[in-house]
Amino acid sequence: MSMDIDRINQRLETLTPQDILIWAWETFGPRIAATSSFQTQSVPLLHMIAEVTLQLPVFFLDTGFHFPETLAYRDRLIATYGLNVEVLRAGMGHDDFLRRFGDLYRRDPDRCCYINKVEPLRRAMRGLKAWISGIRRDQTPERRHTPVVSLQDNGIYKICPMVTWTRRDVWKYIADYDLPEHPLLTRGYLSVGCAPCTRPVGEDEDERAGRWSGQAKAECGLHTMLLSPVFSLTPKETKEER
Ligand code: SF4
Repeated sequence: MSMDIDRINQRLETLTPQDILIWAWETFGPRIAATSSFQTQSVPLLHMIAEVTLQLPVFFLDTGFHFPETLAYRDRLIATYGLNVEVLRAGMGHDDFLRRFGDLYRRDPDRCCYINKVEPLRRAMRGLKAWISGIRRDQTPERRHTPVVSLQDNGIYKICPMVTWTRRDVWKYIADYDLPEHPLLTRGYLSVGCAPCTRPVGEDEDERAGRWSGQAKAECGLHTMLLSPVFSLTPKETKEER
């Protein structure tokens, strides 16, 4: 399928996230999936998926390092909205990972993210034509120029329906629809990732300032390492669990 991306982006830039979701499903369904980290800022997109494209698969990357509150919040949203969630895990399994690598997140967080997030997603994306991500331009300088639709080097279209939204839009939507918040939000966790790599943020900090704090890392790799495998994993590391 060849598409005039510039022309499509001009049109999609003016649509609501819901209309972008509908366009994405009509264009690529069923060979399309979304990813979600199931934190408070994820809930508007998950709510919209439930409203307009309920059959859309939503991938959740279970690294084994999540806060228990995140897993409980994920399960609550699945039960409430009937989301079609698929849990992805590293091929070697979490116990094996801990035995072999221990606190790799301290020594080499990029490799830890690669094994636990990037590789499982690369595996799950085989056969897909499009991937929906909830990232926004206002989250980080690296995301400032993200288009609604882009064709990645792996031939998969990346679609970001929330890209024009601001943090204020997210909170307004949550308030308008009275959506549930992540249990750690009240403790200052504006952005929640894995427990060892997340701290609460102060009022004057960016929402992602608590992610990999003190390390030269701002992204988990899904938006940077997915296309070019920067680590080579052994067959055992990539083996699917059955
Ligand atoms: S966020 Fe931290 S613990 Fe989670 S996969 Fe990345 S480095 Fe590992």
